[in-house]
Amino acid sequence: MTSTIILKGGTVLYHDDADNVTALKDTDVLVTGNLITEIGKNINVPPGTTVIDCHGKIISPGFIDTHHHMWQTQLKGRHMDETLLEYMASGNPQSFNYTPEDMFWGQLGGCLEAIDAGTTFVLDHSHSIYTAEHATQCLAASSASGLRLIYAYSAVSIPLTSWTKDSIMLSSDILPAWSLDQLEALATSQPFGNGRVTIGLGFDFFFLPREIIIGIFNRFRKAGVKVITCHVSKNAVCGTGSIVTLLHEYGLLGPDIVLSHATGLTPDEHALLYSAGANVSSTPTSEAQMGLGWPVALHSGVHGSLGVDSHAFCESSILSEARTLLLLARQEGNLKLLERGEFPQRLVARARDAFNLATVGGARALGMEGKIGRVRVGYLADLVVVDGRSPAMSGVAEWDPVVAVLGHSSVRDVETVIVDGVVRKKDGKLVAVELEGGERLGWEAVAEKLATSREEVQERIATVEVGLAKKLLMGMWHIDENKIKAVA
Ligand SMILES: [Zn+2]
Repeated sequence: MTSTIILKGGTVLYHDDADNVTALKDTDVLVTGNLITEIGKNINVPPGTTVIDCHGKIISPGFIDTHHHMWQTQLKGRHMDETLLEYMASGNPQSFNYTPEDMFWGQLGGCLEAIDAGTTFVLDHSHSIYTAEHATQCLAASSASGLRLIYAYSAVSIPLTSWTKDSIMLSSDILPAWSLDQLEALATSQPFGNGRVTIGLGFDFFFLPREIIIGIFNRFRKAGVKVITCHVSKNAVCGTGSIVTLLHEYGLLGPDIVLSHATGLTPDEHALLYSAGANVSSTPTSEAQMGLGWPVALHSGVHGSLGVDSHAFCESSILSEARTLLLLARQEGNLKLLERGEFPQRLVARARDAFNLATVGGARALGMEGKIGRVRVGYLADLVVVDGRSPAMSGVAEWDPVVAVLGHSSVRDVETVIVDGVVRKKDGKLVAVELEGGERLGWEAVAEKLATSREEVQERIATVEVGLAKKLLMGMWHIDENKIKAVA
């Protein structure tokens, strides 16, 4: 039987076709199966409907994260004081020390932390796949979590065959045939998880010959990947060659491309991306921390969206990223005037612009506009209910519910999360997940499994020398040591 849920008497954040958001007070939202089927006042409640009282609460579209490495849960807390160069040696290569089972718990923990924060859809750039079973476990965890997710299957960034205290060995087979075959098989047999989990391609090996890159993009587009996502940033660590120009010259740019960061680019490069309909995921916290420069998602001429990048070095909240983005965009704009002894007339972006990147902008970037990102009849039911009466939200929720959600709410205020018509967080607590085989696990049990896995991963990490990975990376990426300087 089709399930029905009614969100009763809340303030609905309603996007019109031009992305203006209106607050509809005392409004009900009816969810039938996985779709929003009615929005209005005093909707008749069909028998058997689950009623969620939303008086004093705000009903928002679920938040959309367009760049995240979901497997990294066991690495949380290790990287907050690191630049990109440091993290690329100490964190990124640690999938070498993950078993497929560690992948499962890391991925599940990452997905559940995202749902807890009101995220309902993630583009997961999974650069962790040492064996086919690693990918299988990531997919199984994604399906079990209840999150909507594009699993962007990716080669390991720095693939190793051995790593100890004394030596490190780079694999000579950076794109193994088994992984390309597995990706093709997954792309042609998707979706998974009742339709929520689909397949994308993560690709970062732009040093490969032209015909190989074109061949890979063509092969997996033909196989049906939903998006192709690549890390792009120009600096002394990532290099200053133009990946955007390369993609343009190879004829590969298009609306199914999501470039994470896209920082340090020229106006011409941004113009190429914009005219091709290619999308950008700004991850303001990680970009500011890691040395990647000003985030670009709020710049004009950018098809922008937001990502967390990694919950290993910041909280997994798209609202937090939206706030940080707004702050940094304003700082960037204001500084240009302040440095000349002038002063801004007005701020460069509005709270609503950042809110839209977290919702409808994310949907657009992931090819799902018209299906998610708005609270609209006929859309998939990916919804978040935010408490408007908490100490943080009282006062502001009545005045401007969009500013309340964007600027004042925290994970604590995210009371209910519905993904694809299924309640995944209720009364402020994650609902138990069901594993393949029917076993149900509450969050406490997942946390227990994660603690064990984290300890085991750490035991393996303790047997490797991070300095060796840094040296290897410096050579592999042709990083000029003279350009790595102390901050004055
Ligand atoms: Zn990333």
